[in-house]
Amino acid sequence: MDISEIILDGDTPGSAWKLPVIRFAGKDPAAPKVYIQAALHAGELPGTALLHFLLHHLRKAAADGTIAGDITIVPHANPIGLAQAHFGELQGRFDLGTRTNFNRDFPLITLADRDTLVADLERLTAIDRLKRQLLHMALGADLVLDLHCDDESLQYAYIGDSFWPEAQDLATALDMQAVLLSDGESSAFEEAVAYAWKYADGEKTPMLPGKLSVTVELRGLRDVYPEIAERDAAGLLRFLIGRGIIDAPSETLPAFSGPAVPLDNVEMIRAPQAGAVLFHRNIGETVEAGELLATLITRPGMEDGTIEIRAPQSGLILTRASARFARRRGDLMKIAGFAPTAVTRKPGTLED
Ligand SMILES: [Zn+2]
Repeated sequence: MDISEIILDGDTPGSAWKLPVIRFAGKDPAAPKVYIQAALHAGELPGTALLHFLLHHLRKAAADGTIAGDITIVPHANPIGLAQAHFGELQGRFDLGTRTNFNRDFPLITLADRDTLVADLERLTAIDRLKRQLLHMALGADLVLDLHCDDESLQYAYIGDSFWPEAQDLATALDMQAVLLSDGESSAFEEAVAYAWKYADGEKTPMLPGKLSVTVELRGLRDVYPEIAERDAAGLLRFLIGRGIIDAPSETLPAFSGPAVPLDNVEMIRAPQAGAVLFHRNIGETVEAGELLATLITRPGMEDGTIEIRAPQSGLILTRASARFARRRGDLMKIAGFAPTAVTRKPGTLED
């Protein structure tokens, strides 16, 4: 096991950030290489906890000499965001200085230009350097896992069309409850990785067998517990064994039995007006079209002071907002619908 630190000089005199990177060298050059990072949105810690326990397994595998493919792990990918607080609350999703989402604006380059990512870094801000260092490491691997979480949430993943259904093994190994099939058109980390591979030869290659770049949503922000993290680490280990990165007897993983739906099927349930939110349904429940999801108290105490929010179609409730006050247009739920949504979606990610 090799532990190193990438130093990112801050944008003001006297400040610098340290990004720890843990590497295991594989003994088989033909085995796939894997890159795993967690908490790019700095406060999303289920992945960091998972990697803490996965590293126990990997140290053991290294001692036993069973690591076949190179493994690179970044247990906390965003020291810059982790240090941001506003009135006592961690602000890990957006850079406070530029309002940029830490998981957007990754450079879209082809694989051949990988080394340009880390050339002349001095001209760039600390955040752009961080993004380029992360993408550079990821593009040295065949399998890339970016571990995030949602607000209140089931475990699900965004997996590009180029990797499906081959990536069913990951969904089964981690016991995901749903998969959202994305069309790969954004500047999120996972899609910047896929972009570099897809356009490696100039022309777009639609399918990328043997490769994987995925955003895993490891449930909700508060789902950080030892039992869950250990179970997820064991699941991820099964996936690494199945893909030949660690030599061990591999179980045959059954096909993924949960719903795998295109992003166009996702219903983003939003508050039409501001109000206190009374949820009637919870994550993990299947709802029918027209069922009552939530009541918004828009004018407390008034006869007509509430609005009912109903399911636009049948589907599985994936996520729910943890806040109980919604601003106008605030997100309340994501539902994996069984049919395409009637709402027009901007290409790319579901959220800003
Ligand atoms: Zn995230």
